[in-house]
Amino acid sequence: MTYSVKECFYTLQGEGAHTGRGAVFLRFAGCNLWNGLEKDRQNAICKFCDTDFIGTDGENGGKFESAENLANHAFKIWQGQSGKPYIVCTGGEPLLQLDSDLIDALHNVGFEIAIESNGTIKAPEGIDHICISPKIGAELVQKSGQEIKLVYPQINGDPEQFAALNFENFFLQPLDDANYQQNLLKCIDYCKNFPKWRLSLQTHKIIGIA
Ligand code: SF4
Repeated sequence: MTYSVKECFYTLQGEGAHTGRGAVFLRFAGCNLWNGLEKDRQNAICKFCDTDFIGTDGENGGKFESAENLANHAFKIWQGQSGKPYIVCTGGEPLLQLDSDLIDALHNVGFEIAIESNGTIKAPEGIDHICISPKIGAELVQKSGQEIKLVYPQINGDPEQFAALNFENFFLQPLDDANYQQNLLKCIDYCKNFPKWRLSLQTHKIIGIA
């Protein structure tokens, strides 16, 4: 399989249960809920994306002909850091490309593997940390993992519909649009009323890192 990677870089995880942890971000090109073109955003299933996932022209991006090549490429970006190597596979939708060969190859070079997925594709076995961000209007297929991170509010997006799913952590994250402050207050209110849910902020945006 040829893997298409938009970009790959070392940073801090900005959101969710591993906020603040050093990680290689491996951003795959492409998503199944939006084609990434602004002209098509309003007709997409997912309309609030804040990420450029088109093409392979970003930092350390490219096409990789084998899982081993991509794993070695990602590990070079980690090298020099201490502690357990940690990689976050994101996108776009990483499960369009992340297969068992690549999971094995990433493990073989020493990575602990996390994904950030929209949950519309079943995750292969072996991923160490599954974070699902459901999109209302798209069928949720992956209903278990380490965290669910719901962007809130969404139309028809009552968090209660996800509260019984098999996740270890439940996060609400304010929708980052023109009404951000109101969205933040709604998240705060909800988490105070339903403390199973915790507030996740996009700290990378707050502190101004990628
Ligand atoms: S599912 Fe994720 S990557 Fe795809 S368009 Fe929505 S926010 Fe962007």
